[in-house]
Amino acid sequence: MKTILEIQKLDYKIKNLEREVENCPASVDFKNYKKLLQEGRSRFEQLEAQANEIINNYNAALNRFEKYKGNSEIVKKRNVENINLENVSTLISDANSLVGDLSEENRRVEDLVRKAEEVVRKSSNLSNKLTEIKKRSFVIKNNIEQKKQEVAPKIKELENQIKTLEKEVKNKPLYEKYKELKAKNIFPVYVSLDGNYCGRCKVELPLNFIETLKTKKMLPCEHCGSIIMISEKDVIG
Ligand SMILES: [Zn+2]
Repeated sequence: MKTILEIQKLDYKIKNLEREVENCPASVDFKNYKKLLQEGRSRFEQLEAQANEIINNYNAALNRFEKYKGNSEIVKKRNVENINLENVSTLISDANSLVGDLSEENRRVEDLVRKAEEVVRKSSNLSNKLTEIKKRSFVIKNNIEQKKQEVAPKIKELENQIKTLEKEVKNKPLYEKYKELKAKNIFPVYVSLDGNYCGRCKVELPLNFIETLKTKKMLPCEHCGSIIMISEKDVIG
């Protein structure tokens, strides 16, 4: 067990170095950059959908104009001399409604033009912003790469030490378990009992759990999955 715990200490150092890379300012910048890029992309999609909607509305407006043009031709062709008094009011109301419809249509088209201008303005703003972010991302990536290369030899050295220690591990099943849980990100894998608390997640353990632990010497914590040992010396391996 002593060797496994020594390996665990080395793995802990490796994890710290990896965390150093993950939490370095450039990595944080990179996460923000990716978020901004994603936001930019979905904003572009929204703008594209808006542009499509404007085009559809505009085409519908054109079709309506064609219809009004047809109606106005019909009104024009009515022979004024043939119109009797009853027809005059119909003619006037037809003409009025045509004028009303046309001004309404004109308002709608003006509205569409305004919206289209807004979409174009927003798209170009967004595109400038994204280009700027992309340029900066090269610098950020370089900084992360630098940080990675800085810790790489240290990690390699620790990994070599682990390889040497692995040969000395006596209890293979315990070590297999260690590797299995570590791969599942349950780390540290073997922890001590801290009073009545789990040495990793600090959850208070039920009394019957502690009773069983006293006989079995090690048990996985029901809360975090790490294996709690009553005492390192009691565990053969
Ligand atoms: Zn726990």
